[in-house]
Parts: sequence; structure tokens; C-alpha cells
Amino acid sequence: MPTEKSIEARTMITRLYCDCGGEMLPTGLALTSYPPQYPHRCQLCEKQTTRIDVYPRVEYAPVESVSNLEAEVARQRARLDVMEGGK
Ligand SMILES: [Zn+2]
Repeated sequence: MPTEKSIEARTMITRLYCDCGGEMLPTGLALTSYPPQYPHRCQLCEKQTTRIDVYPRVEYAPVESVSNLEAEVARQRARLDVMEGGK
């Protein structure tokens, strides 16, 4: 029988910025291409760009895999320290 299982997640928000430094936000339009595309407009200079994603984009990563990655980076650093210490 299928069972539900919940895990803790970390939330990441990715924003899209124009070359001028302004944030690009959706115009509210969607192009019915395949896949659909979403026009975004710079809030400062009004330059437009089209993206497959809608920004700001929200993503989730399991906390467990993030902490595993951080632990691996720490292990690699410790290994390098030992190697450099042996010189
Ligand atoms: Zn701009």
C-alpha cells in the first residue's frame, strides 16, 4: 500500500537581473510555444527578455542532500589541509 513520507527541504529563490542591475519580472503574458515562454521586463530600463521559466523561480532541495554536500566539501578541505601540512 502506498505511504506518504515527508522530508525537510531548503527553499531557494532565483531572481533574474537585467544587465543594468534592475530585476526582470513577468509581464503577465505567456507565449503558447512548446514549451511555453514567458516575457519578462526590466523594472528600471524596461528591456524585455523571454524565458521558459517564470522568475522569481522557487526551488526546493532536500536538507539532507545539502548537508551531505557541505559535509563532503568539509572532508575535501580537511584532506587538502593535511596534504599542505605535510610539505
Ligand atoms: Zn534594465
